[in-house]
Amino acid sequence: MAQLNEPNPLKLAIDGGTPSITQAPPAWPIANEEIRSAIDQAMADHTWGVYHGPWLDELNQQLSQYFGREHVVCCSSGTVAVELALRGTGTKPGDEVVLAGYDFPGNFRAIEAVGATPVLVDVIAGGWVMDFDAVKESLSEKTHSILISHLHGQVTNIPTLRETLNQLGRGDVQIIEDVCQAPGGRFDGQPLGALGDISVLSFGGSKLLSAGRGGAVLTNDSRIAQRVKIANDRGNEAYPLSQLQAIVLTPQIKALDDLNARRTENALRLQTFTESLATLSGIQPQSSDVDIAPAFFKVPFQLNCEPWSRDQWLAAAQAEGLPIGTGFRGFLNRSERRCRKVGPLQNCKTAIEQTVLLHHPILLSGADTIGQIEMTFQKLDSSIKAAADHE
Ligand SMILES: *Cc1c(COP(=O)(O)O)cnc(C)c1O
Repeated sequence: MAQLNEPNPLKLAIDGGTPSITQAPPAWPIANEEIRSAIDQAMADHTWGVYHGPWLDELNQQLSQYFGREHVVCCSSGTVAVELALRGTGTKPGDEVVLAGYDFPGNFRAIEAVGATPVLVDVIAGGWVMDFDAVKESLSEKTHSILISHLHGQVTNIPTLRETLNQLGRGDVQIIEDVCQAPGGRFDGQPLGALGDISVLSFGGSKLLSAGRGGAVLTNDSRIAQRVKIANDRGNEAYPLSQLQAIVLTPQIKALDDLNARRTENALRLQTFTESLATLSGIQPQSSDVDIAPAFFKVPFQLNCEPWSRDQWLAAAQAEGLPIGTGFRGFLNRSERRCRKVGPLQNCKTAIEQTVLLHHPILLSGADTIGQIEMTFQKLDSSIKAAADHE
């Protein structure tokens, strides 16, 4: 028989109940013995401290092989990599660069940094990646390039975009593929990062391949590669990646596919689970006639939690132990002086207001923790329903 003082499993942690998540997510970056022995080796032979050495050569070669790209230039961050990619494609002051109105904040600034004008287009309905109809509408004689991100586990169909541009007689427009959130994802058998004219990686501290800081650009076009090298050269490398950073990255490339498989399995399980909920929805599987394998840096959900606010929901979810936060703030409120906006950007607005993102390390937890995440979603869903009935 239930006792009066038995803990109520439905009572929220924020109201004094017991948090649903009993184990903290694995610390990121996760331990990797191969990194430790590589660092030991670099200590023994002093190669950790040199300007030029074997570790960066090895990393460049691994990246080239993994992403199927001839030219690799490593640099100090993903943000710098986006700027180098823009310079590599020859983007000049006065040019227009198309990007989604919902994207990584630095991407807007990188376009401004090279003197070009961001042109904002909408994302797909209920999603986070660029809508190609909006891209078509955005083209002008000033359009120089399109900066396009694979975002929150969604993959953009770059071959179709290329084909569309060619059909419109705009084969001149360069495609810059931002893979910072999706290394290891695949499209039609090809790695993401092998699809654009040039692609961009981040090795930032939270990213799937991490050296704390760092980035890279990859391309098969030797003219683009040459321009990137010139932009990165001030008599000395202006935005270098160090040997020490390279040492920790190579073993992570080898481990990437296995970790992605575990992350993706759990992300898809959670997204499927939300089908039973009224307040939270995961992404729909992307419709495509080719094979798509996403990679998850953040798992996105759209939240509809009336009468609660998103902040209220997030505070309650975080109190339960969920590593979850808001999505990007987007660029909708940037002034018309700084950018050109194509259409009302309604889907961006929805994405900005309703997105919550689960951070990836918890996806490497065991099945019991994934079950606890589901329980947390369920518990919040019930509390909101109760609050709505009360009104
Ligand atoms: C993280 C990120 C970047 C920038 O990378 P940093 O290394 O943090 O500068 C760019 N684009 C996207 C989509 C990102 O997620």
